[in-house]
Amino acid sequence: MVPWTLPFERARAQPSGRKSEPRGIATSEHCIESVTLTGGTGATEDRPVLARVLSAALLGVEAVLVRVEVDVASGLPAFTTVGLPDSAVRESRERVRTAIRNAGFAFPSDRITVNLAPADLRKEGASFDLPIALGILAATGPLKPRHEPFAVVGELALDGQIQPVRGTLAVTLACRKRGIGTLLVPAGNRAEAAAVSGVRAIGASTLGEAVGLLNGDVDEQPWPAPPTAETATDEIDFLDVRGQLHAKRALEIAAAGAHNVLLLGPPGGGKTMLARRLTTILPSLTADEAIEVSTIWSVAGLLPSGGALVRSRPFRAPHHTISGPGLVGGGGPPHAGEVTLAHLGVLFLDELPEFPQHVLESLRQPLEDGRVTIARASGVSDFPARFQLVGAANPCRRGCASLDLCVCTAAERSRYLGRLSRPLLDRIDLHVELPALSHAELGVLPGEASAAVRQRVQTARERQRARLRGLKIRVNAELSARQVRRFCSVPREAERLLAAAMTRLGLSARGHDRVLKVARTIADLEGAETISVEHCAEALQYRGLDRRWRA
Ligand SMILES: [Zn+2]
Repeated sequence: MVPWTLPFERARAQPSGRKSEPRGIATSEHCIESVTLTGGTGATEDRPVLARVLSAALLGVEAVLVRVEVDVASGLPAFTTVGLPDSAVRESRERVRTAIRNAGFAFPSDRITVNLAPADLRKEGASFDLPIALGILAATGPLKPRHEPFAVVGELALDGQIQPVRGTLAVTLACRKRGIGTLLVPAGNRAEAAAVSGVRAIGASTLGEAVGLLNGDVDEQPWPAPPTAETATDEIDFLDVRGQLHAKRALEIAAAGAHNVLLLGPPGGGKTMLARRLTTILPSLTADEAIEVSTIWSVAGLLPSGGALVRSRPFRAPHHTISGPGLVGGGGPPHAGEVTLAHLGVLFLDELPEFPQHVLESLRQPLEDGRVTIARASGVSDFPARFQLVGAANPCRRGCASLDLCVCTAAERSRYLGRLSRPLLDRIDLHVELPALSHAELGVLPGEASAAVRQRVQTARERQRARLRGLKIRVNAELSARQVRRFCSVPREAERLLAAAMTRLGLSARGHDRVLKVARTIADLEGAETISVEHCAEALQYRGLDRRWRA
């Protein structure tokens, strides 16, 4: 805790004409983690007043603490904001001025300077309204000094109401990391902030209430228990899909080992229906994973109102007209793309060959590294993007019912699927062909429910976790080339089978490793410790399509 006296004394010691210069104030760098909120009786000729409030700016999907310094000095009425504010932050002075008056406080007719430090970090959005307003109220008197560290975020409406802001969860995590025990947030974001243990979240709905709560004049109203697990997405189930046993088996393998899948089949064959149901057979999110996903969604402003956390795995299905930055993230300041919103969930790209080539190629980094790095002049942002890719494609541009019925020429077919580059296909472990359903198949009884499949997937994942204990990875799909040799040894006959397949299918070395990973997952689903010839043979079935269709 750094007492407020240092900058106060500095300012007082300076000649009266220079006391409000931000340069003189910004010297107290050591205060960034502590909160020094100070009030006085108001600015007079010989008592300039300065207050500091902690807030936070968003950088990628994380929050960085920002010190909001407010100096109220005598002089011609003016209100200046410095420290790389964007236009929303600069406009905040109009909201702050009106909100303070409408909340029943006096607005000083003095010279007000607001500095947002560190100055080299770009501040965007309206979440600095509330800390700036509280800083002014601290400098002019209504808000009493506090001595324990706390931080504030919130947007102000003109009537003094506090509006919810994006990224509250990220701010709360930043507070916990930096040892800030209390966080004042808009009432609409309170449930979100309360989900993080170790930080006391105070929710306020008006500026007046915020001042009352901080001064200890008002008791915090009891909040309803945070919303519990959402089950809204459980309306879809594997039971709904008739037939397609081969594809369902492939999705079960994909779920068990977190493998990427390409579904290849005529229109109307149920590709989208199957892809949507992949999330229902994946293991549920752990508590930590739910926070991780919710933080991303909170920063993107996608959390439902009321602040319920994301409890089910995300499913994102962007249209093929999406831009590169829309898919992998970008822009300035950088924002998360669909791959990041699909983090720990499923990214479904329907009509994969229709996506522009450069957009598909931009998927290679996130598929390989599980993250996206965006470099800008203002700095580097890192976005998590560990998702499972499900691509779907018609076998040909006309969408013929099957290979036998296809009226397209071989050249046309090869041109169409040829838009999927070899490096991209190599990153997709399972290529699954979905035949058009015959009338007889449509009559078959529905198969298993998602819950039963998920149980097997869960067991297979536990086997993998036990085997990979001590390593940074948890699933077979993430095995490196060296780890494949260590964990996926196969009997001699299987070795011969694979060698023959490499020649026949033109498998690359990476494709060969993919087969072994899938074989490992099939063995895990069966509860087998060693990979057998049968496991390899089944895994090979999921590699043949590109060769057959593109020949
Ligand atoms: Zn065709």
